Amino acid sequence: QPLPVQTAEDAPASAALLARASQVIPGGVNSPVRAFRAVGGTPRFMASGSGPWLTDADGKRYVDLICSWGPMILGHAHPDVLAAVNHAAAQGFSFGTPSENEVRLAEEIVARVEPVEQVRLVNSGTEATMSAIRLARGFTGRDVIVKFAGCYHGHVDALLASAGSGIATFALPDSAGVPRSSAGETIVLPYNDLSAVEAAFAERGHEIAAVITEAAPGNMGVVPPDPGFTEGLLRLTKQHGALLVSDEVMTGFRCSASGFYGLEGPYAAGAPDLFTFGKVMGGGFPTAAFGGRADVMALLAPQGPVYQAGTLSGNPVASAAGLATLQGCTPAVYERLDTVAHAIADAVANELTAASVPHTIQWAGSMFSVFFRDGAVTSYDEAKDQDTAAFRRFFHSMLGQGVHLPPSAFEAWFVSASHDDEAVEHVIGALPTAARAAA
Ligand code: PLP
Repeated sequence: QPLPVQTAEDAPASAALLARASQVIPGGVNSPVRAFRAVGGTPRFMASGSGPWLTDADGKRYVDLICSWGPMILGHAHPDVLAAVNHAAAQGFSFGTPSENEVRLAEEIVARVEPVEQVRLVNSGTEATMSAIRLARGFTGRDVIVKFAGCYHGHVDALLASAGSGIATFALPDSAGVPRSSAGETIVLPYNDLSAVEAAFAERGHEIAAVITEAAPGNMGVVPPDPGFTEGLLRLTKQHGALLVSDEVMTGFRCSASGFYGLEGPYAAGAPDLFTFGKVMGGGFPTAAFGGRADVMALLAPQGPVYQAGTLSGNPVASAAGLATLQGCTPAVYERLDTVAHAIADAVANELTAASVPHTIQWAGSMFSVFFRDGAVTSYDEAKDQDTAAFRRFFHSMLGQGVHLPPSAFEAWFVSASHDDEAVEHVIGALPTAARAAA
């Protein structure tokens, strides 16, 4: 059966922009998964977003289930965030000196996530994990990092081995251009396999600076930690003098007001030593953070010997957007995310079942993804064992009907509190046709 792939004729303005973009930007995109390589067809160039809707360069509207890969938790161009941005921008865009907005954003994060005593603001999740790793190495005086297959922590050299997200989408083992010496300091273990972590510590415990894990992985699709897994990582890292870095770039302030930690923690074995945040805390602007124990954070320059810096770090406009977004994340917002996510996921399950399409839906709070396979997914190997061709057909049918899913079978679907009943009904209305296309 040929794949129903949307063609350039379906989106002429996007196709023209892609042709122009491809002349000056590799692949025409500034982040690989946007290119539709895994699903085929023409990526839509968006002209505007409002609440749950995106409008592309041809004027076609889509219910957005990407939400900028997580940040737009309140919806596009939320009036309160827009007002905060306008107000901050009118005062100046960037000072290269400290300013109050960054203090307020840092205070908000520290107030929300109990084990985080201090944070430093950076510009992307990648920078956050890169800096957390450097800090963990500086603190412990050790070099080796343990990560899990299928977890994505940004495009940091040492963390690109068996990463999820685009690496999964494009079926790459890892990236060219990463020095062997750098990858050689990274141990990659299967997710949810505590005995593999025990074995690694038994063999090389004295060399391991940190274990980094997504608090609840979302970059191989959503694969929550098995009960006791995080607890086991805490126990082992503490026993061996290594740090645990909990990457909450995706889950932070989305799974709950205090992230996935708010759902699963506190833990009997103590708290993760460092956390990384991004996405929601920037409200759609480039800001992110890493933070945790004050005695570890004290090692950062200018107080300590671990260097880390940024021309635009703590940018006043981005900080204002992030602060307004976090302040807008009320209990009612989390309730709405839950309602919307479950309404959509239930309908997806019903329609795929009716069309006899194998599927499994997994959750971390209101964050979910749909695997096109039967049976629970607990590891990257299982996540990869799905019918990506069925996903592709499903994706294009939804796109043609005005619903923009993440263009990869290995990604979480994101909703916002602005997804009103009309948007949810629009998604649900598209599902029967899409499910039949996937069959
Ligand atoms: N960590 C996690 C868990 C992520 O999901 C991502 C991005 O998707 C990153 C780190 C990297 O963040 P950024 O894309 O802002 O560099």
